[in-house]
Amino acid sequence: MSECIFCKIARKEIPAKIVYEDEEVIAFDDIRPQAPVHTLIIPKEHIPTLKETTDEQTGLLGRILVKAKTIAALKGIDQSGFRIVLNTGPDSGQEVFHIHFHLLGGRRLGWPPG
Ligand code: AMP
Ligand code: ZN
Repeated sequence: MSECIFCKIARKEIPAKIVYEDEEVIAFDDIRPQAPVHTLIIPKEHIPTLKETTDEQTGLLGRILVKAKTIAALKGIDQSGFRIVLNTGPDSGQEVFHIHFHLLGGRRLGWPPG
């Protein structure tokens, strides 16, 4: 069994505020929110970073992006707008090595990011 913290959330071994779940994806609120809405969307499959993805995972990653609007609607920010962030590697500040899409919104977001 993976010791990865997000795999443990996907297996319900550690608690999280789950927003959405289906057979291949789970979304839960970030414990250190950077905006009024800050939800993480992850594949249940353990993929460490974008660098380890394969052609076979193209559909999975695409479906996550297509589902993001549904999850944004569940959080009430589909009309106001939102940002999806996928950190990869040291300069991005990636801390958890299980691919996760940050869904951010609920306030006007600055650009460029810091
Ligand atoms: P990143 O820097 O892109 O790797 O983002 C990791 C994110 O995971 C951070 O925003 C953390 O606040 C969040 N995080 C870490 N542990 C947990 C947890 N147990 N439940 C929810 N969010 C978490
Ligand atoms: Zn994992």
